[in-house]
Amino acid sequence: MRRLLTFLLVSTIMATAQKTPAPAAFPTADELNQMAARFAPAPLNVDLSSLSAGDKKALAKLIEAGRIVNHLFMQQFWSGDLALYDKLQLDKTPLGKARLHYFWINKGPWSEIDEHKAFLPGVSAKKPAGANFYPEDMTKEEFESWVKAHPDQKEQAEGFFTVVRRDANKQTKLVPYSVEYKADLAHAAKLLKEAAALTDNASLKKFLTTRAAAFSSNDYFESDMAWMDLDAPVDVTIGPYETYNDELFGYKAAFEAYINVRDDKESARLAFLGEHLQEIENNLPEDPQYRVAKLGAASPIRVVNEVFAAGDSNHGVQTAAYNLPNDDKVVQQKGSKRVMLKNIQEAKFKSTLEPISKVVLQPAAQQDLSFELFFTQIVAHELTHGLGPHQIKINGRDTNPRMELKELYSAIEEAKADVTGLFALQYLMTQADKGAGAQPAPLPHGPDAERKLYTTYLASSFRTLRFGLQDSHAKGMAVQFNYFLDKGAFVANSDGTFSVDLSKIKDAVAGLDRELLTLEATGDYAGTKKLMSEMMLLRPEVQKALERLKSVPTDIEPIFVTADKLAGASPVKAKQKKTK
Ligand code: ZN
Repeated sequence: MRRLLTFLLVSTIMATAQKTPAPAAFPTADELNQMAARFAPAPLNVDLSSLSAGDKKALAKLIEAGRIVNHLFMQQFWSGDLALYDKLQLDKTPLGKARLHYFWINKGPWSEIDEHKAFLPGVSAKKPAGANFYPEDMTKEEFESWVKAHPDQKEQAEGFFTVVRRDANKQTKLVPYSVEYKADLAHAAKLLKEAAALTDNASLKKFLTTRAAAFSSNDYFESDMAWMDLDAPVDVTIGPYETYNDELFGYKAAFEAYINVRDDKESARLAFLGEHLQEIENNLPEDPQYRVAKLGAASPIRVVNEVFAAGDSNHGVQTAAYNLPNDDKVVQQKGSKRVMLKNIQEAKFKSTLEPISKVVLQPAAQQDLSFELFFTQIVAHELTHGLGPHQIKINGRDTNPRMELKELYSAIEEAKADVTGLFALQYLMTQADKGAGAQPAPLPHGPDAERKLYTTYLASSFRTLRFGLQDSHAKGMAVQFNYFLDKGAFVANSDGTFSVDLSKIKDAVAGLDRELLTLEATGDYAGTKKLMSEMMLLRPEVQKALERLKSVPTDIEPIFVTADKLAGASPVKAKQKKTK
């Protein structure tokens, strides 16, 4: 059956090839190498010295399980993906090697950061919208009318963990992941159970055992609940999760794996920030009537270093943080958890923010660029999403800022988290200065630290603005950047660089935070619209700087050095395809 399928796939590829334009229309080896160079190679070396012997062995098993996830994901991504990958590996010419490399970055023949344009001959011009979750020729209407005619199968049909196939009589049928991917899942489950036996951490043991069971039962609820409780030196996310690849409906979950190690130093700093959230809320620059007297429990955040990533979490632009699970039943009972990948953020910082700073900062300011403060500000951003107005009253009516500010909300909320994060760090630094000498604060403070914080923030603004003004983070950043320019806190120099005026930035941050918090507290749609129409644009001096950043890499290509050392380097093996 498998062999027949492969044969059919290869014939389809060849049939399509005859219809596509001449190969000259596709990028050459040089062009492909330039396309790949937009992803700066980033070796991931992770310190494992704090792990117990058992955890270290468990980690190696989990990396092996992660490699199977690449094989699973490629089956889901496109029906011809694995066969094409095998074929590319045989071509040892410079063009063949360049194609294979760029294919592996994208995990397929479409270039993600070029609107998914095909960069290889013989494949469709665009990625199939339903990936390989549905028959390739199935339309939205066909699926919807099938679901209408089969109400008893609606939940499964629209569920995360089934694929839609046609049987021998061309009749539509649903196949659970546990059946469709049986061999791979059985292999992965075996490795998870072996890792569970090796680790000495109870919460990891529980997650791995329940997740292994989910691979054969196709019921992920219990293991998602166990993942929420997972707090261990070895931090793992493995299974079917995000639905972005199902562009037809967004129903079907793609397999991914993040095999991480907890960052204990950063976790301590995170705990320190967490302990001070109520105090920060009580001192926010807003009318005291808007302050929340008792904050609800914050959702858990973990700071980790990525040892290995696979499948959906390792193609195109790399994930720097993720929030899971997506299953509403779990979220209602347990909330969701945010995992921040510190070494991925650091690699992005080195590959993009350092070159950006050489263009937008004056030479003397470049040495103030600090990854430590960059990352701490991102952590503060995540935490301060939870501060400020969330339940508001307008003319006696209970509502929330999201409802009132509608399509403007996400950009304003991102800007709010940015400046409230800056405000929170400044507040804690000032407190630490006052009590200097009492005990070493887990947060750097003093004039040097403040200068580094704001200078790094200025450079990182350009990193965000590069995302383009269709992105909520970039919109929110444009508002901040222009506000700070107007207040003289950011200064555009005549040589095209920018500086921070440290005598003005603190007041500017507090002033903007007051405006944003008040817009949210009063649900002021008209006021928000006015602020955004005045501020959400790129001024000529900023535009000019962005143009000078064109050659800075877009993102990184992680090289899993520690993982390869621990578990041995091995490419994806398409076992069933060996007969060709
Ligand atoms: Zn955010």
